[in-house]
Amino acid sequence: MEKREQLYEGKAKKVFLTDDPDLLIVSYKDDATAFDGQKKGTIVGKGAINNRMTNHIFKLLEKEGVPTHLVEELNDRETLVKKVEIVPLEVIIRNFSAGSFAKKLGMEEGIKLACPTLEFSYKNDDLHDPFINSYYALALNLATQEEIDTITKYAFTVNKVMREYFASLGIELIDFKIEFGRYHGQIILADEVSPDTCRLWDKETHEKLDKDRFRRDLGNVEDAYQEVFRRLGIQ
Ligand code: ADP
Ligand code: UDP
Repeated sequence: MEKREQLYEGKAKKVFLTDDPDLLIVSYKDDATAFDGQKKGTIVGKGAINNRMTNHIFKLLEKEGVPTHLVEELNDRETLVKKVEIVPLEVIIRNFSAGSFAKKLGMEEGIKLACPTLEFSYKNDDLHDPFINSYYALALNLATQEEIDTITKYAFTVNKVMREYFASLGIELIDFKIEFGRYHGQIILADEVSPDTCRLWDKETHEKLDKDRFRRDLGNVEDAYQEVFRRLGIQ
């Protein structure tokens, strides 16, 4: 398998074509952005941590019946993945109030919700990823009803598996964002699962171990990513 030209450079990853039209190489960067790309910085070591953490969790999810884009980890930062057509929905699951949810509803952060919630954002940078519901997704032809049902089912499974797994590491899974894609007609989990895309709090101290440390200038950003990585036990 040969690496070919760069297909795309995003805020956190670069994507390369390969000599196999069905496969891509994703390369995780140390670059960090927040607030629609207005805040920019570097989190040293983040690329390797997010790459290895995503692959570790994706393997766990595969075992639990959630198909993913993972093919093979190539090195610290790079992974061979199935090339999907991304469904332009950011799928957000929440177990506790935080971030935009807490703000919108006038709640403190860290309140346990009566049950997990699921919401969609339309993945569109020009529009700043607006909140939409499944009727909008259908009306805008972003996905079919069958795809939305599959995505919803997988998203709640991802939540259950990850919540239990992180709990075993002394981490509370507050909320997270995932993306799905179409691969030969099937919906599979794509993109990443990392401290960039999840809110992870220490269960005892409630210390934030995720990108909120960067977004909110809380300090010890690298240490937080390293701590999650250490608890995963995959060094
Ligand atoms: P952004 O585009 O938001 O800046 P990234 O820097 O993470 O985000 O860029 C990675 C891009 O690759 C994202 O747009 C993501 O949707 C896309 N992507 C992730 N996994 C796959 C895949 N398996 N096939 C095709 N595209 C993918
Ligand atoms: N999230 C993400 N990418 C986005 C928006 C949100 O990965 O473009 C994640 C974020 O890290 C958090 C969850 O989705 O774990 C919910 O984010 P929220 O809607 O509260 O938005 P935020 O407060 O991060 O703007």
